[in-house]
Amino acid sequence: MKPEVSPSTPVLAVRELRKAYGDTVAVDGVSFEVARNEIVGLLGPNGAGKTTTINMVLGVLEPTAGSIHIQGVDLARHRSQALEFTNFAAVYAPLPGNLTVVQNLRYFGMIYGVRDIATRIEQLLKEFDLERFRDTKCGVLSSGEQTRVALAKAMLNRPSLLLLDEPTASLDPATARDIRARIKDFTAKGTGGVLWTSHNMYEVEEVCDRVLFVSRGKVLLQGNPRTLPHEHGKQSLEELFITVAREPLALEHP
Ligand code: ADP
Repeated sequence: MKPEVSPSTPVLAVRELRKAYGDTVAVDGVSFEVARNEIVGLLGPNGAGKTTTINMVLGVLEPTAGSIHIQGVDLARHRSQALEFTNFAAVYAPLPGNLTVVQNLRYFGMIYGVRDIATRIEQLLKEFDLERFRDTKCGVLSSGEQTRVALAKAMLNRPSLLLLDEPTASLDPATARDIRARIKDFTAKGTGGVLWTSHNMYEVEEVCDRVLFVSRGKVLLQGNPRTLPHEHGKQSLEELFITVAREPLALEHP
């Protein structure tokens, strides 16, 4: 049975998170939260530590130090209980292409221990406009259709925390817009929150309630993506991103 969780408990609370590989510090004392109904963008240049952070939140990588609480549950102490509240979609983790849409959803539904899987799958096929592809092998679907299946899979267990690593990479603008609308719906209609990585600053500005700029394993800036650039004397989020990527020290000590 899931414990009662106060509505004010963040869906994700990360404190002083650190991951070192020998002398390489991939994540260097990162702290942040994701609230209910909030979409938080994790931004930063390649190698900044975004994927390492996400993998620690997913329990794939063990932190060197620091803590992760998902819905108030300590991931280090109550791993399976904490992970029940999460799910994830990323372009580099495609669903098995030789399984059909329904087979994939059933397979992952069993892994997540979803009750009444058949009904849940029918709901998701409808919600993500996948009914006509139900018996199609995922490997032959277009990128946009595969992303919709990946999102349906990510919703199977009704996660409180949804982690999305570049969910719209490789999608055409119309399909990307459709995917963004579905993700916004998830936070608007339910009680979940989203941690989202993207390199598309237009998308980030449109979708994210808050952004965290990460560089060299540290959070350098955070705030509203629509006002943050002006607060730092930049015209656009893209300009701010480039400054963070090129001259992080200038922003570390303004
Ligand atoms: P991002 O997702 O922001 O592009 P990553 O989290 O993948 O960045 O990587 C952060 C840093 O950690 C990079 O310098 C990367 O080379 C390093 N790194 C990631 N994984 C490993 C590993 N398994 N061993 C050694 N270094 C790693």
